[in-house]
Parts: sequence; structure tokens; C-alpha cells
Amino acid sequence: MRIAITGTPGVGKTTVSKVLGNKFGIKVIDITEAVKKHKLYTEKDEEMDSYVIDFEKLENFIKEIEEKEKVIILDGHVSHLLNPDYTIVLRCNPEIIKERLEKRGYKPKKVLENIQAEILDVCLCESKGKIYEIDTTGRDVEDIVSEIIEAIKNKKERKGIVDWTEKYFDYLTLEIR
Ligand code: ADP
Ligand code: MG
Repeated sequence: MRIAITGTPGVGKTTVSKVLGNKFGIKVIDITEAVKKHKLYTEKDEEMDSYVIDFEKLENFIKEIEEKEKVIILDGHVSHLLNPDYTIVLRCNPEIIKERLEKRGYKPKKVLENIQAEILDVCLCESKGKIYEIDTTGRDVEDIVSEIIEAIKNKKERKGIVDWTEKYFDYLTLEIR
């Protein structure tokens, strides 16, 4: 079983995945880290300071791990594209994401693109199959993890619970070259 923990960068995927993985002894694959470490990319996007993922190589990498593990957690903003059995979409207030990404040292253009992606529900829209969306804004990690466990146990499905478009519409009209 593949559980995807997806969402815009800075939303809290790695934090949540680690706690969830530790609680149940489930293997967590940090996609971004694996792509870099095992060279699962076709090229580096210098401008955005990111990697263009080689999805075939990444899939083979995951399959190899699945030979030994029954359940795995895929932590990453593209994890929902990796044929998961269940997808958790984490959401967070765009201004909090902005602060976190600036603190991480992302370039203004990259920060803005990610804020816009959060406002436009990109990860949620791209997700397929069984989806459970959670707004993590102002919530404790333990609390979020409890809700995820409850959702997975009961095969809950939910989407369309947040809408940042009204309050943060102005971010959508900005552009950084
Ligand atoms: P992602 O993996 O989605 O990019 P991270 O898990 O690295 O996000 O979290 C980004 C930052 O936000 C980290 O500094 C982390 O400590 C903080 N963070 C994550 N989740 C929460 C939360 N529920 N409450 C407060 N801070 C959080
Ligand atoms: Mg992460």
C-alpha cells in the first residue's frame, strides 16, 4: 500500500510523514531527497533550483523498496502522481507557507509560484483516487497525524474544504521575472 502525503512545499509534509512513520514503523520515502541522492532526475532546473524528475527511474526505485515493505509513505509534492492507494493532501494558509519558504532561502520567484500553487489547489486538483484533504493551519503535528490515522482507518474521503482564492486573490495577479 502506497500512502502519498502531498501538498505545496512548506505545508508540513516531511514533519507529518516523519511522525506518522515513526508511530507505526512505516518506511517513509522523502521524494525530493531520494531524487537528489539517487540521481532520479533528467536535468537540473537552474533557474528554479530544482530537479526535473525522471518518473520511470523514481517508480523503479519505489518498486524496489516495496519488495521489502508492505506499506510505504511517499512524502513529496509530486507523491500524488506516483499511483498511491491513498492520498493525503495537506493544506496551509499561503502566508504561513510564504514565511516558511522565505526562511528556507527560496528565491522570490519560487516562493511566489508555490504560494500561487497553494491558492489554486494544484496538488489537490492533480490528485486522483482516494483523497483526504486536511487544513493544517494553526494545528499541532500530533493532532494532524491523529486525524490522518483516523481517516486511513476508516477509508475516509474528503476534498474541497479550503478556498484561499478570495482572501489571497491578489497573489494570483503578481508576477516576478
Ligand atoms: P514540507 O515537507 O511540506 O516542505 P516541512 O515539513 O519541511 O514542509 O515543514 C516546513 C516548516 O514548517 C518546518 O520548519 C516545520 O517545522 C514547520 N511546520 C510543519 N508543520 C507544522 C505545524 N503543524 N505547525 C507548526 N510548524 C510546522
Ligand atoms: Mg519536505
